[in-house]
Amino acid sequence: MNGWLSVLWVFEKIFKEFLKVMNDVELQKLVEDISSEFFEWSFKHKAIFNPRLRTTGGRYLLRSHDIEINPKQFDHFGLDALIGIIKHELCHYHLHLQNRGYRHQDKDFKDLLAKVGGSKYCGTIPGMRRTSQTLHVYRCTECGTVFNRKRTIDTKRYVCGKCKGKIRKVKTFKNS
Ligand SMILES: [Zn+2]
Ligand SMILES: [Zn+2]
Repeated sequence: MNGWLSVLWVFEKIFKEFLKVMNDVELQKLVEDISSEFFEWSFKHKAIFNPRLRTTGGRYLLRSHDIEINPKQFDHFGLDALIGIIKHELCHYHLHLQNRGYRHQDKDFKDLLAKVGGSKYCGTIPGMRRTSQTLHVYRCTECGTVFNRKRTIDTKRYVCGKCKGKIRKVKTFKNS
């Protein structure tokens, strides 16, 4: 790679990371703000990102009263989805502390969730079951057939299944 291009490439990468970062301090502030604005009750415990959560968007911990949020929620689906999950967890939080029905099936929970416009689900993030978020597109140089693959393939070893022609990578898509 040309020297200037690689410098630009590194710079772009750093800048993208910079834009993407939301840390625990900011999350804490966001949860407190949402709590006072939509619930009119303050959030007095801890909110943290837990990268070990796999398909769970967020969870409320009954013992510590803390809220954990899957960082992928923000990375993959953006701020709106993150706010939806936070409202959902805050419904568990406030109802539990007020000794009201804090479970998904409870009327108190359903009513409060509808009132604040929270996300319906916290158990699974829709679309997160796919392990691969990348798609590689190849095309046959002879007959033009297009192949989509989740993994890269060795274009020197593999040939087109239709005409045995050479294949070439066209594009890589990334969801995140
Ligand atoms: Zn829930
Ligand atoms: Zn072909």
